[in-house]
Amino acid sequence: MTHAHLTPKVSPAVAIESMVNIVGKDSVLLDPQDLKSWGTDWTKVFEPEPLCIVQPKTTEAVSKILKYCNDNQLAVTPSGGRTGLCAGAVASQGEIVLSLHKMNKILDVDAVGMTITAEAGVTTEMLQNAAKDAGMFFPLDLAAKGSCQIGGNVATNAGGVKLIRYGGTREQVLGLEVVLANGEVLDMNVALRKNNSGYDLKHLFIGSEGTLGVVTKVVLRLVPKPKNLQLAIMAVGSFTDIPKILQTANASGVTITAFEFFTQVAHKIVLKHLPGARTPFQEISDYYVLLELEQAEGEGVMENLLGKLFDDGIIADATIAANSTQFKEFWGLRENITESLSAHGQVRKNDISLAIDKLEGFVAALQQMLANENPKDMDLVLFGHIGDGNLHINYVSPKSRDSKDFHSVARAIEEKVFKLLAEFKGSISAEHGIGLTKKKDLHFTRTEREVAWMRQTKKMWDPVGILNPGKIFDL
Ligand SMILES: Cc1cc2nc3c(=O)[nH]c(=O)nc-3n(C[C@H](O)[C@H](O)[C@H](O)COP(=O)(O)OP(=O)(O)OC[C@H]3O[C@@H](n4cnc5c(N)ncnc54)[C@H](O)[C@@H]3O)c2cc1C
Repeated sequence: MTHAHLTPKVSPAVAIESMVNIVGKDSVLLDPQDLKSWGTDWTKVFEPEPLCIVQPKTTEAVSKILKYCNDNQLAVTPSGGRTGLCAGAVASQGEIVLSLHKMNKILDVDAVGMTITAEAGVTTEMLQNAAKDAGMFFPLDLAAKGSCQIGGNVATNAGGVKLIRYGGTREQVLGLEVVLANGEVLDMNVALRKNNSGYDLKHLFIGSEGTLGVVTKVVLRLVPKPKNLQLAIMAVGSFTDIPKILQTANASGVTITAFEFFTQVAHKIVLKHLPGARTPFQEISDYYVLLELEQAEGEGVMENLLGKLFDDGIIADATIAANSTQFKEFWGLRENITESLSAHGQVRKNDISLAIDKLEGFVAALQQMLANENPKDMDLVLFGHIGDGNLHINYVSPKSRDSKDFHSVARAIEEKVFKLLAEFKGSISAEHGIGLTKKKDLHFTRTEREVAWMRQTKKMWDPVGILNPGKIFDL
């Protein structure tokens, strides 16, 4: 089994033998259990069916693998930590999975230039720890940080909880080493902060979901450690008050490092599934906001802000984390939503974004639409990086429900949501990407001409079409 546009010039057995010749027997996985777990990601929607899993240890080996696959028309799926939420790393059509798992060294931490250089298979958490050990801060932060890899972060242009303060992955990348489909190693590894000498090619690869090249090395910027972080969790009665909190915080001149929200249903599900989780509130509320501030300016900044929000009737209740344990507890209520939802039931995910000033109108229209639909046995769970206009819409049904029925009902609603989103000029993917799960919906966000230019770009960098075929769009 392979992709229609590829006619392999060698048999599967010969292809596997060639992989063994390049990386050694220990670095080619063939066991059915391994094929299953390394051939998929968090979506678990598509049945994985890779030819084999190859785990090179050097850029040179990646180059040899890709050259061989290009010459022999073999499909390759680059793979990181497999925490992706759009089936970008899924190999369901006999692809060779190229896992960067063994390229996991931090190569350099430069305390003067404030940069860190690492191989693509280093996890986000390893980068955070290395930066911390050197007295600095790596600002990319997401709940999957212990498993996701910087190569995967670059390929998905991951966002995360600190985007509001420091930008997403794109803003952290200073240099990249990428292996192209034909095996050429392209070094865009210059750690310069300013470099206006022609096209900045690295940006093409950021967010390209493994369709244009395989990231093997990354140079990232580091920032000074944030000072005196303060965290408050607030109970809010109406969604319309959430943008007001953001506006009030911005107007007061504080430095916001995170601004997240979740609904009552999301909160209840976390309390049920996260061991030891507790709510800080006596009364339940429809919405909750998590606000993190850098209190470098002096004491009382958060208290003053919360005081104003109370006086203006914007929030119903609030608690400030009193110590590091509470800090972790409050963050846990937000960061464990994705995992708790998976434990709770069947989940279909949308990850949309809107201009902040359009959020209120969109959510009102969405809630009205869903009230009319009244889907049986299905909860709507909203949460997300709302300070960036990023809303995660999750449809959740009990595990006992027939899966086909669940997905077909959720899909019908999803299409209506995307139509509504297009009217509000939003995006169908804020940070998770398109992969396999959203490619049929790309037209809601991108014009025909944009997609045509994306196809041209793909053809230029990968003329045979071996790299992650079928992801983002069909060729
Ligand atoms: C609990 C949880 C919370 C999450 N929170 C967030 C969040 O806050 N923000 C966010 O943006 N995402 C979030 N995600 C999604 C996911 O963690 C990110 O998309 C992450 O960047 C994926 O990295 P990965 O290494 O797991 O990549 P994978 O899932 O392995 O792959 C993702 C894509 O990148 C490609 N790829 C992987 N490595 C390379 C490489 N070296 N070169 C070229 N292409 C490559 C793959 O082919 C695939 O298309 C979350 C996921 C989970 C499970």
